[in-house]
Amino acid sequence: MMPLVPLMLALSLGQADPYVRSRVDAGDTRTQCLFWTSNRVVWSQSTFGNPDTAGDTEFDAIRASFQSWQDIFAECGNLTLEEGPRVDEREVGYRRQGSNTNLVLFRTRDCNTVVPADDACWDDDTCANTFDCWDDDDNTIAITLTTYDERSGIIYDSDISFNAARFSFTTATCFPPTTTNCVATDVQNTATHEVGHLIGLDHTRASGSTMNPSAPPGEVSKRVVDTGSRDFVCAAYPKGQASQACLHPVTAADLGPKAGGCAAAGSGGALSLVGLWSLWLARRRKEAVR
Ligand SMILES: [Zn+2]
Repeated sequence: MMPLVPLMLALSLGQADPYVRSRVDAGDTRTQCLFWTSNRVVWSQSTFGNPDTAGDTEFDAIRASFQSWQDIFAECGNLTLEEGPRVDEREVGYRRQGSNTNLVLFRTRDCNTVVPADDACWDDDTCANTFDCWDDDDNTIAITLTTYDERSGIIYDSDISFNAARFSFTTATCFPPTTTNCVATDVQNTATHEVGHLIGLDHTRASGSTMNPSAPPGEVSKRVVDTGSRDFVCAAYPKGQASQACLHPVTAADLGPKAGGCAAAGSGGALSLVGLWSLWLARRRKEAVR
């Protein structure tokens, strides 16, 4: 019995840390942290937006979310989050060949209602992209799908999907949502949290954290990045320095096929990116309501 006590204590303490970095294996501190090494991350919104949000206010709300983090990067960080042109693309995930967009989009249809039960996409885990629908848990408000190298922790691509099939996304500032112009599920509140995932933060139970995994209806407090999450930016992406790994400095030997440019077919470990994002996806089902 004795050895269990310190372990459980460590776990409960870890969950309430001011910030928790995402890991190659979620929650496993023996594995590398996830982080961007480029000093510029371009992200784009889908031109489709969210038809149910008033006017085009969802675009502005998402931009404001990225800006909240960018303000911190400008003060003490080493990367720039830059909005690219809106795109017609509706596919999340990483493509080995061709361009990759760090995409933000709203899925307005539930895969369960638009995809035939016998479609192969259910087994392949490709329904969301193939049918442009939400295929994660009903209670999940949004999800960030990050593709990274499992040895170095370096992030290659990160996409944010909103569950507009189930949730009513609003951009106003009052509550309750029964009154005109009031908050149901706030776009900026949600997006600020998801951008935290995009830059390498995991959940924490720390009180008042933007990275707290729950978001009740009407919540807008996550629009403002908390001090713990701010500290993460300054520590993981220090101004004038390289982005910080957790286990050891990243060397050429850690780098995957993109960086090395010499991956032969069938050469093993370095080619595990695509498999990994499936794993990552499975572990990113968060944001349960209540
Ligand atoms: Zn989350």
